[in-house]
Amino acid sequence: MMRNMPISPREVLRKHSFATKHSLGQHFLFDEDLLAHLVELAGITAEDDVLEIGPGSGTLTRQLAAHARRVLAVEIDRDLLSILAETLADCPNVTVIHSDILHTDVAPLFAGRFKALANLPYYLTTELLTRLLTAKLPMDTLAVMVQAEVGDKMIAEPGAPEYGPLAVLCRYFADTRKALRVPAGRFSPPPKVDSVFMRLDIRAQPPVVCEDEALLLRVIRCAFAMRRKTLLNNLRAGFGLDKAGALDCVGAAGLSTDIRGERMCLADFAAIATALIKMQVSKSIPSKT
Ligand code: SAM
Repeated sequence: MMRNMPISPREVLRKHSFATKHSLGQHFLFDEDLLAHLVELAGITAEDDVLEIGPGSGTLTRQLAAHARRVLAVEIDRDLLSILAETLADCPNVTVIHSDILHTDVAPLFAGRFKALANLPYYLTTELLTRLLTAKLPMDTLAVMVQAEVGDKMIAEPGAPEYGPLAVLCRYFADTRKALRVPAGRFSPPPKVDSVFMRLDIRAQPPVVCEDEALLLRVIRCAFAMRRKTLLNNLRAGFGLDKAGALDCVGAAGLSTDIRGERMCLADFAAIATALIKMQVSKSIPSKT
């Protein structure tokens, strides 16, 4: 049950003369119906422990507190801490952690599995999604508000202009879908573009098999490193292969020599990683890719 506050989060922000910081991607949501709908779309239940990234004024956090067992909210902005102490004063199942999520070790914060939810600051969307997905966290779902164009990138198919490493990672680690489009005007202050709420159900098993996942992730990064170059040339640059070695690798994976990363599906990346393992190239690869 959502408790009513004596004064609203908006009024608490005003009382503290809080000015939103563009540099921290602060576009707040205050519409209770929309916030409740997001929590529902994320599938949060009373058994769930939840990580919220960037609680802001605490509006979404309050909704989470009403639906989840426990909420850990990581906020970077020191100016919001006294505001959150006020807006979350009647939510004993919420802990606010003052930290940069990019420098927070999330796994030790939870005793078991958890779900993550965030109205993400746009400046760190891709980096944060990549980190959360590749960190092997005991996370069941990741539900995030992102710019509409990033949402398109997350679910793009091979050959589409939006297709890139983010789409490949989202497909490898999760069942990813658009849950709701949210017009810019619903945020305060409104961003320049509309947003989309994405739900990622983390897979128990990846859809393709590769015995060295770290190598597979490097192959994905490498294939898109120089977009205009063929996979062959990216493999040469990224893995230090000579032309014959790169040709052998692409051939062993059953791919055409002029293929580019933008046309490759998950199975193709896995086939390249497997070919590299067979060629024993992985042992001699410099670790910068
Ligand atoms: N959840 C609130 C809402 O929906 O109204 C605020 C969302 S706002 C788009 C993004 C929030 O993330 C802000 O509170 C911002 O200060 C916070 N933030 C930005 N960068 C962060 C980081 N690196 N680590 C943790 N929080 C961050």
